[in-house]
Amino acid sequence: MPEENIDEIIQEILSEEKKVEEGAEEEIIPTEELYECPVCHHQVSESADFCPYCYAVFDEKVDYKMLLETLIKKLKFIIPLAKDMGIPLDAVNQHIKEAKKYAARQDYPSGYAHLHDAYFYLIKEVVDRYRGDLEKYEIMMGVNADLRDIYARASGYLEEWDIENFLKEFEELKSRAEEISKDLRQYLEKLEGVENAIRIARKFGIETEKVENVVDTAKDIADNKKYGDAIKVLDEALTPIKDEIEEVMASFLALVKEEVMRSTYSGKSNAKNIIRLVREMKVYRDEGNLVKVLEKMEEINKEMSK
Ligand SMILES: [Zn+2]
Repeated sequence: MPEENIDEIIQEILSEEKKVEEGAEEEIIPTEELYECPVCHHQVSESADFCPYCYAVFDEKVDYKMLLETLIKKLKFIIPLAKDMGIPLDAVNQHIKEAKKYAARQDYPSGYAHLHDAYFYLIKEVVDRYRGDLEKYEIMMGVNADLRDIYARASGYLEEWDIENFLKEFEELKSRAEEISKDLRQYLEKLEGVENAIRIARKFGIETEKVENVVDTAKDIADNKKYGDAIKVLDEALTPIKDEIEEVMASFLALVKEEVMRSTYSGKSNAKNIIRLVREMKVYRDEGNLVKVLEKMEEINKEMSK
């Protein structure tokens, strides 16, 4: 490493020290006192009348009617989810029935108490199940930074019992994960095809070093989990030897033609198979799919040697 580089790096490290000190000073700004909700154990503001996570009441002067309405909204959202998960709802339904009775009598604190019990039970169950669902994706977290960010956000919302926002992130995570595993499968198939094509090309006496270099590049890209990009590279892997393949194909087809004519006149049935394979090869050649062209050349070769 050149000396000036080392100096630069040292300078960079030293300049971090200033930032570290500045950052430390900033943190001294006093923040609001937090304490733990005795019901759900989330950290809540000391001045709160009720817990914004589980809706436990800390101050009896709270607006119970407002809390009751909030819990109705929350329950309307969460009950169908719980139902889909197969969570038993008998006790919940009983609580709702009771709450309705109290609400009709304008006894909001009693109505609230029933809905709070119903909600507290349901939200814990639902969060637990979603936590299990989310953890299944943990294994994919090494895959890429975007996915990690989405996972972290989903996990954060879940720990805050914010199911609506959790579900948005979780849906995104699932579709992204599916895309990546689809790309990975496609990449592996492509790689197998190209490596097979290299083997066939060598058999036909074609120099394949250029292609092998391209494959190495694709593998490096795939190592960084960029499967889509690796696929694009593999799609063009045989382009550097396109002319050689065409050349070999021309002399090979001349041989095939002789063979087919000979077999036709002597009545050999594999002439038909060879003609079919040549037709297939032509389609791939028109598409520019050199991997498949080489595969067909090998199949034709096998058929001729029968
Ligand atoms: Zn709470």
